[in-house]
Amino acid sequence: MLAALNFHYIRPQDAYNGKGVFGVTPEAFYAQLRLLQEFGTFISAQEIPLVSQLPLANKDLFFHITFDDGLREQYEYAVPILRELGLSATFFLNTENFVEQKVSTVHKIHLLLQYIDGELLMAEAIARLEQSTANADSFRLKAMEHYFYDSSETAIFKYLLNFIVPPNQQAAMVDNLYAYFLADEHPNIDLYMSEGQIDDLMNSHQIGSHGHSHKPMGLQQKCDLIEDFSISQNWFRQKNYMPTIISYPYGSYESLPTGAIDVLPSNFKIGFSMERVANALPLSNPLFLGRYDCNDLPGGKAPLLSEADLKARNLKTTSWFA
Ligand SMILES: [Zn+2]
Repeated sequence: MLAALNFHYIRPQDAYNGKGVFGVTPEAFYAQLRLLQEFGTFISAQEIPLVSQLPLANKDLFFHITFDDGLREQYEYAVPILRELGLSATFFLNTENFVEQKVSTVHKIHLLLQYIDGELLMAEAIARLEQSTANADSFRLKAMEHYFYDSSETAIFKYLLNFIVPPNQQAAMVDNLYAYFLADEHPNIDLYMSEGQIDDLMNSHQIGSHGHSHKPMGLQQKCDLIEDFSISQNWFRQKNYMPTIISYPYGSYESLPTGAIDVLPSNFKIGFSMERVANALPLSNPLFLGRYDCNDLPGGKAPLLSEADLKARNLKTTSWFA
């Protein structure tokens, strides 16, 4: 069985403030990997095709570590720990951060929530809505019900973006707020790895694609997706590195490019969703593999599985594309 586990932000505890940016600390990362080592074998991306042929009766549990979003802190904090433990991981990046030198909308939202007072953010967002009578109080309760796990500030902002602002204006709204509040003091392009760091990981680990822009592929027009892939492939081509693995942004069922799988470039042999399951061997559908968030596994903040489950190999396997 192959269980992939995914990480995003990794930074010291004092660089989190409980708003916007959520992730793990280097200490928690180290501890979780040490814990999981007791239950299975960590493999590199190159080893996935090797184990993928193992028969169903094989009771081994293999783990593969992945990082989404190409964040510089992954290089600074996780890579030294991986080196210490002798483990190999795949780092998925969005080429728009490098080609266009821009911060992805998804990260602008995290940064706005992290640094800007929620009420102020809301007031500015509402002031920018065209011909709207919306005010935060009118949807405060609904927002908190819908985004049950988030703080009220985060819930209201997410609700505003996803339900009040028309879909075609969401990115512009975020860009606008980001430019107003943060662009000057936080250009934040250093949120992402440098090209030198990426080159290093291309040699020492594995670099994968997270698409050109960080958008749900399943909801993009096919022609936009083709255009995105073409820019992204060109960037990799000039680095002489064609990735064989892709992690679909967001990774939910709706965000996967199932209807447009024919536009996926043929260099991709393995694809990860965020269906929170393990993958039975032999891999039956390697372009749509399940993957756990690190918090779903023992050592994480809200494990779906216990250590006993891992020991007994009691892991659900993918059902979306079975
Ligand atoms: Zn992502």
